[in-house]
Amino acid sequence: MGYLYDLCDDFISLLFPRLCLGCGDHLLRNEKLICTRCYISIPRTNFHLKSDNPVARLFWGRCHIEKAAAFSFYNRDSRIRKLIHQLKYKGEREIGFELGRIYAFSLKSSGFLDGIDLIIPVPLHPLKERKRGFNQSEIISRGISDVSGIRVDVNSLKRTGASDTQTRKSRYDRWTNVEGIFGMEDRGAVQGRHILLVDDVITTGSTVEACAEVLLRAENTVVCVVALAFAQV
Ligand SMILES: [Zn+2]
Repeated sequence: MGYLYDLCDDFISLLFPRLCLGCGDHLLRNEKLICTRCYISIPRTNFHLKSDNPVARLFWGRCHIEKAAAFSFYNRDSRIRKLIHQLKYKGEREIGFELGRIYAFSLKSSGFLDGIDLIIPVPLHPLKERKRGFNQSEIISRGISDVSGIRVDVNSLKRTGASDTQTRKSRYDRWTNVEGIFGMEDRGAVQGRHILLVDDVITTGSTVEACAEVLLRAENTVVCVVALAFAQV
């Protein structure tokens, strides 16, 4: 029976090849979404092991972020860039969930998640979310939640104003561009909470800062931040 099963399995994968989302190569039977070579070549930052790290430093003197880290470096040729692209523009939600899970195992075992009782993804503008069909930061958050058991809250923090695509703007423009575009639905829901704010890519930190500023208006709220990738400018 085992032989027959393998034969069927091979036949199915011939018709519907399972390909690595990082490099396009065929996946082995025990591999899921990404091949082992791509998995290993993700340039991890290990920032969660060190409170003084480049992502945490982005917020110094700007707003009180308790802890901050990113899973990987977002270099031009880094594997994570390709994977995040698959998530955001090719609708490959599963990879976002899986990367969230992978990162959560490291965060959990290092104690980074200790004390955190709520996960809040950086919201997309509702129109953009409707167009894409999902919010990539929420998908990543769901993966982190799957491993940690910490609840995801997508209702308290809302994106209210529009923001243009930020890729071609200068740091100063980006800064002014995000101010006042987030709002809080229900201050009571985040009051006294230790929140993990989740983003896909952190560049200047201005989007995260704008979110944190809103969350920190609630009494006794603590905000920590993680992203899948850190893009140095
Ligand atoms: Zn691969």
